[in-house]
Amino acid sequence: MGSPSIGVFALQGDVREHLVALSELGVDAFAVRRLEELERCDALVMPGGESTTMVKLARAFDMFDAFADRIKTGMPTLGTCAGMIMLADRLRDGVVGQETLGGLDITVRRNAFGRQVDSFEGDVGFTIFDDPVHAVFIRAPWVEDVGPGVEVLASVAVPGVGDRIVAVQQGPVVATSFHPEVSDDLRIHRYFLDLVTATAT
Ligand code: GLN
Repeated sequence: MGSPSIGVFALQGDVREHLVALSELGVDAFAVRRLEELERCDALVMPGGESTTMVKLARAFDMFDAFADRIKTGMPTLGTCAGMIMLADRLRDGVVGQETLGGLDITVRRNAFGRQVDSFEGDVGFTIFDDPVHAVFIRAPWVEDVGPGVEVLASVAVPGVGDRIVAVQQGPVVATSFHPEVSDDLRIHRYFLDLVTATAT
């Protein structure tokens, strides 16, 4: 096939940053707000933002089930921060009744790093890269447990808590607790694009 058609969930979140990152990698990605746009997608990015608002808007625009179905039926998807929350099958510390699209067999704790360390940056070692990734965490979730089909790509040592998982992959679905879209490091987007290409062939 030609270049894959990649959409960014655009009902809420830092959509532009993902579009810019993808365009720097030569991909002309587009914003997804409606069904016709989702239908054009070979792959999807769920951005950082506010997961509670994302859910509300996806419901309000009658897009929730369509997104969830595409992800669960194998569409390659990259979720970052709130996007990771959206992709988690199980959620802790959500607002009452907070739904997720699901697709990743993980339990995620929302706003897990707590108020004192609301936002921070750090170098995170990845199993898939030689050098650490400089990661920006903003009211970030962490992953509390993963199912058997999920590969842990990165963890961080949280003082007084222990190691916590911050990046995972299950088949063609990848998620990070932090925001690769706000840094100049394009390795995570490139890794995802390679996965999209590999899945399509
Ligand atoms: N705390 C946000 C949420 O619950 C996620 C924050 C982010 O994406 N930077 O959705």
